[in-house]
Amino acid sequence: MRIVMLGAPGSGKGTQAKLLQADHGVPQISTGDLLRSAVAEATELGLIAKAVMESGELVSDEIVSAMIKERFGHPDAARGFILDGYPRNLAQAEDLNAVLGELGIELDAAVLMDVSTAVLMKRLTGRRTCSRTGKLLNIYFSPPEELDACLAAGGELLQRGDDNEQAIGNRLEVYERQTAPLIAYYRKRGLLKPVAAQGAVDEIHARLRTTLGLA
Ligand code: AMP
Repeated sequence: MRIVMLGAPGSGKGTQAKLLQADHGVPQISTGDLLRSAVAEATELGLIAKAVMESGELVSDEIVSAMIKERFGHPDAARGFILDGYPRNLAQAEDLNAVLGELGIELDAAVLMDVSTAVLMKRLTGRRTCSRTGKLLNIYFSPPEELDACLAAGGELLQRGDDNEQAIGNRLEVYERQTAPLIAYYRKRGLLKPVAAQGAVDEIHARLRTTLGLA
């Protein structure tokens, strides 16, 4: 399974990629997660990326494409991959083509997670992570018991640094300007598979599996 997950911030790429990973043992590779680890570890790369990420702009193509190339060298990636948040512009899509060409492999699909802007805003502004369990929650959509359980266990509901309104607005704008052209790019190559990505997580997952011919 070699898949690219396309979609705006908050479209549920990460959530669905993790579910596919659990189903098939194929690694979800998220450039956002790799960058956040580098920031948390305060590596040289992390220091460069931090301010760019907080503003909602894109980190340089050289950095993220090198990260992906390195990650493809790990043994688990031999089984395939689910790319989450990469490529994010046409230059990165071309970098990805080049790396895949070197490896002698091809993409199976580019999934487009299709969600309205109003839903995206609620998902992003409401998104929290439980500091205790790492569970991803949403103050608008998660069952109150789940939110309470985190607090009762002594956890805090943490918000990502780039989930504030200004950065969210900027991330959505960057998506429209730089990433959305990839939809036509992958459609032209016959790889685009749109999925209606509103509703409950398990319903969306079922639709995704059907779209990918896994159901
Ligand atoms: P994400 O977790 O995918 O929403 O990414 C969070 C932030 O990391 C983005 O707003 C960018 O600043 C940066 N980032 C993640 N993936 C990429 C990428 N492929 N290219 C450039 N910047 C990225």
